[in-house]
Amino acid sequence: MKEIALAGNANSGKTTLFNYLTGANQRVGNWPGVTVERKAGYLKKDKAILLQDLPGIYSLSPYTPEELVTRKYLLEKRPDKIVDVVDATNIERNLYLTLQLLETKIPLVVALNMADLLNKQGRRINTKKLAYLLGIPVIKISALKRKNIDTLVGEMQKKQATPEIIPKYDPRLESALAQIAKQLQGIVAKDELRFYAIKLFERDEQIQAELKLDAKRQETIACLIQTAEKIFDDESSSIIINARYDFISRVMDQCVIDEGDFSLSISDRIDLIVTNRFLALPIFFGVMWVVYYLSIQVIGTAGSDWLNDVLFGKYIPNFTEELLRSWHVAPFMQGLIIDGIIGGVGAVLGFLPQIMMLFLCLGILEDCGYMSRIAFVMDRIFRRFNLSGKSFIPLLVSTGCGVPGIMATRTIEAEKDRKMTIMLTTFMPCSAKLTVIALIAGTFFKGQSLAAPAAYFLGIIAVIGSGIYLKKTALFAGDPQPFVMELPAYHLPKLDNIVRYVWLKSKGFVQKAGTIIFASMVVIWFLSNFNFRLEQVPEEESMLKGLGSLLAPVFVPLGFGDWRAVSAVLTGLIAKENCVATLQVAFGNPPQARFDQLLIAAYTPMAAYAFLAFNLLCAPCFAAIGAMHKEYGDASWTWRAIGYQTFLAYLVAMLIYQISVLASGNYSIYNVVLVLLGITLIVYGLFIKKSKPQPLEQTIEMRGSEWSQR
Ligand code: GDP
Ligand code: MG
Repeated sequence: MKEIALAGNANSGKTTLFNYLTGANQRVGNWPGVTVERKAGYLKKDKAILLQDLPGIYSLSPYTPEELVTRKYLLEKRPDKIVDVVDATNIERNLYLTLQLLETKIPLVVALNMADLLNKQGRRINTKKLAYLLGIPVIKISALKRKNIDTLVGEMQKKQATPEIIPKYDPRLESALAQIAKQLQGIVAKDELRFYAIKLFERDEQIQAELKLDAKRQETIACLIQTAEKIFDDESSSIIINARYDFISRVMDQCVIDEGDFSLSISDRIDLIVTNRFLALPIFFGVMWVVYYLSIQVIGTAGSDWLNDVLFGKYIPNFTEELLRSWHVAPFMQGLIIDGIIGGVGAVLGFLPQIMMLFLCLGILEDCGYMSRIAFVMDRIFRRFNLSGKSFIPLLVSTGCGVPGIMATRTIEAEKDRKMTIMLTTFMPCSAKLTVIALIAGTFFKGQSLAAPAAYFLGIIAVIGSGIYLKKTALFAGDPQPFVMELPAYHLPKLDNIVRYVWLKSKGFVQKAGTIIFASMVVIWFLSNFNFRLEQVPEEESMLKGLGSLLAPVFVPLGFGDWRAVSAVLTGLIAKENCVATLQVAFGNPPQARFDQLLIAAYTPMAAYAFLAFNLLCAPCFAAIGAMHKEYGDASWTWRAIGYQTFLAYLVAMLIYQISVLASGNYSIYNVVLVLLGITLIVYGLFIKKSKPQPLEQTIEMRGSEWSQR
């Protein structure tokens, strides 16, 4: 058994390669921080090789959580080989890591990825020379286009000696390193001398702590470093950085030919418009409007209507009813199966076409590179409010599911920002909440193209608004973190990536309907058909009504102070799909009435929208709460987060409903008071406690050669 690690910068294509080689379904995303934990899988072609997909890193100095995970793994586990996935279009920056990987003396292969883009860039890289200068195999591949992967696998299977050629830097630096290495003799393995010498020279605190050198050695080393700093008139860590870039530029001179004609590439030209200071946001809103409107209200609806009205509305129930009757199944069992399970689970499954359509659109936007621009654009806006664009990446992940979104916050180094982002991540509509959006938009707002997209924008506004407010509170105040993000070139979406994405989302959705929702509906059906003396009764006398009515008064100001909606909110905590399923079961199955007509009779459109807003923003499902608890590692923080989310949800939903009451003209003083109270609270949060003016635009956008020092 051999263990091989994939290491490289963020976005160099490690996960794409990993998925292809192992047949795994890890998420490929073109923003940093998608892979926060390492993932392992066996090679499809050679089960004797275990491949590790590591989080993307820029150096082996532990600055970021990703770097910590990767460095710990490489240094402690020492895999049999590292495949360094290098983005050939950004070779200068990527080689910076390659040099450090070489120093670990773990056998190394360079996979020069994205070779398909080189031609377009007008660049040629001589791999033979590069391999010669680095003393390790270099293979040009394209993980996306599946080019030359077999050669790489062949190289992975080969036995490879420890790399011998070690880049030689400035002689004045080399002598310091040699003398530090001498101090380490007998303390670290011979092969690792240079790595540790360099780390000590950089004054890497973790390595200092790990080595536990005696005072004399420590002093000798400190003295050497000080001398070097005087000679170079520079800090020790930047002496190393400069030495590495000097070496890289010498290598580049030898191996890289640039024929590029300095004009902007198509990708850069698209970015001029898409990330334009003024156009970026309107374009983003436009794009998301089209995506949500098309998938939830237009295209997806056709499929859903058929599923809801015909398949789960007629064929399956009628067929099952016949069957159950012919088997003489007890009437209450028939009710459970037809109204409870088929009705409830079917109501959720009916939205599968919308889910698939939405993830198809999101998958395309993500894969082609558009979504990573949004993180960059949002960073520009967030920064004005002391937030970092890093906080936006978990939100993008959350549009699939809140749990990985919450986990993605691990890339945020600033503890306060991370805690805050965990709190805000689940405001984004995940696939489960989509069923609620689709139900409300499809039932109450037919043909109104803003209804579904507005739910998405409401999520974003809740995030930004909360960010502005929370950043001013003592709990979260602090300067924004620098956000380094590289914008990968746009490329045509890759069909199998997208199919895999849609398939995974749909599979998860159906599985959840068949398990959690199924079980919930059995319970809900029971509660809504029996009274506390366990006699079968109509819904109006059921336990569910009794229980729901207890809390119903709390929701009267929100317009849905009704036991059915309240039960839906509560079961939504188990899984948000339950909101839809519970409504369906709670409304029962009166003859000749359609579910949507029952809903329209029970709630006003704006009460329904308030219901949607509340479920969108309030405490997330238990799975997400569990993830929050895990990341906070602290119950009081989890409660604080849930409390804030639920409070905000209540406030927003109340305003939506109460303003609609005012607008209808038919209001009382009570409505006016509620609206004024709500608006005052929001204005207070946003404006009253003014924060200090902050420097704007600190983001560094890294692109190829512009990247020089970290
Ligand atoms: P990771 O961060 O290193 O795991 O990178 P990913 O595998 O998530 O890929 C980042 C982005 O680069 C995705 O949009 C991929 O589709 C894209 N990508 C990966 N390999 C290639 C390649 O060989 N050519 C091109 N053009 N794009 C690629
Ligand atoms: Mg990855």
